[in-house]
Amino acid sequence: MGADQVDQVWDVAIVGGGAAGLSAALTLARARRRVGVVDGGRPRNAPARAAHGLLGLEGINPLELLDRGRKDAASYGARIISADVTSAEAVPGGVSF
Ligand SMILES: Cc1cc2nc3c(=O)[nH]c(=O)nc-3n(C[C@H](O)[C@H](O)[C@H](O)COP(=O)(O)OP(=O)(O)OC[C@H]3O[C@@H](n4cnc5c(N)ncnc54)[C@H](O)[C@@H]3O)c2cc1C
Repeated sequence: MGADQVDQVWDVAIVGGGAAGLSAALTLARARRRVGVVDGGRPRNAPARAAHGLLGLEGINPLELLDRGRKDAASYGARIISADVTSAEAVPGGVSF
């Protein structure tokens, strides 16, 4: 990660920007928390052509679902960073990757 990203202090640091991490990021960013999501880009359902059972999104391409999720979370101020997390620490005022 770049120095600017490492130096950032977040209220919530989310490791993984799959469906779970992005859902959490959306909810927490809507609650005005400073949210950083770091994602390594290896969602487990990458081989699937379509995701099923999601209300209103039946059959959506899984990568499109994540793209929408990133945009949704970012629209409330969450920052999505493409990288692998190897460590994180509590710092004064929050959490830093
Ligand atoms: C083949 C297949 C088909 C599926 N089909 C459906 C379906 O039709 N409908 C449905 O509801 N569910 C389906 N699922 C289940 C669904 O994919 C999972 O429930 C969902 O992806 C789980 O989301 P997640 O965010 O927990 O994990 P993931 O989607 O696996 O995302 C985890 C993310 O965290 C990142 N990560 C992990 N460690 C680090 C680290 N140290 N630093 C940075 N990033 C990290 C990974 O790179 C990845 O991007 C399917 C699963 C599979 C395998």
